[in-house]
Amino acid sequence: MPSVTDLDVAFRSLQPSERLQMLRAQIDGTLVFTTSFGLEDQVLLHLIAASGIDVSVATLDTGRLFPETYELWARTEAQYGLKIRSFSPEAALLQALVAAQGINGFYDSPVNRSACCGVRKIQPLGLALAGAAAWITGLRADQSANRQAMPFVEWDAARGLIKANPLLDWSRERIAQFAESESVPINPLHAQGFISIGCAPCTRAIAPGEDERAGRWWWEQDRTKECGLHVGVDGKLVRSGVSS
Ligand code: SF4
Repeated sequence: MPSVTDLDVAFRSLQPSERLQMLRAQIDGTLVFTTSFGLEDQVLLHLIAASGIDVSVATLDTGRLFPETYELWARTEAQYGLKIRSFSPEAALLQALVAAQGINGFYDSPVNRSACCGVRKIQPLGLALAGAAAWITGLRADQSANRQAMPFVEWDAARGLIKANPLLDWSRERIAQFAESESVPINPLHAQGFISIGCAPCTRAIAPGEDERAGRWWWEQDRTKECGLHVGVDGKLVRSGVSS
């Protein structure tokens, strides 16, 4: 198996579909792509389906997604003829969370918000990635300031797997153009100003000129706007050779 550094360097001269092919050819074991049905994830799923490579597709059903997201989920499975594995919060953890902070307690403090993301996202992500050799994401470098230094491929030390970002160098505009030209199904909320779409109570539309992740947890002052899926144990976005 090549080193993450070799893969990262090789990715720089390849197109996203070629990067996916390289991952499948060079990595033994299960490749897991986690989708939240955003624009980038839909394009990546399209490329995976078109390539025919063996990738397990998974999503985290937090229980608080937009109705439009659930509808897109069903439409995507129908269009591509595939089943997306769904991972939900553990019932006992969810009951304890709601008992402790209320159903919308995430608005009350960053601590509560992190706890909610922990139960509804981080814990299910661990289940989705269990046994995987590599994790494929739809992250883009220009989504936010704190994602700009991310590598194409890195070692996620916390989860013990390779993390690959095949769309890292594509702009939002390029991805939107690709989605339109290839008839990729997308969330109708994008057309209403919802650029980065997560859980319904924690996502709002953004105004022209705002950072595209400004609509996530908008009531918080922390500008990193991360839920923890792509954050290391030290609370920072992980870097190649350190963690994901
Ligand atoms: Fe909870 Fe909001 Fe995080 Fe979703 S985004 S898991 S509702 S805090």
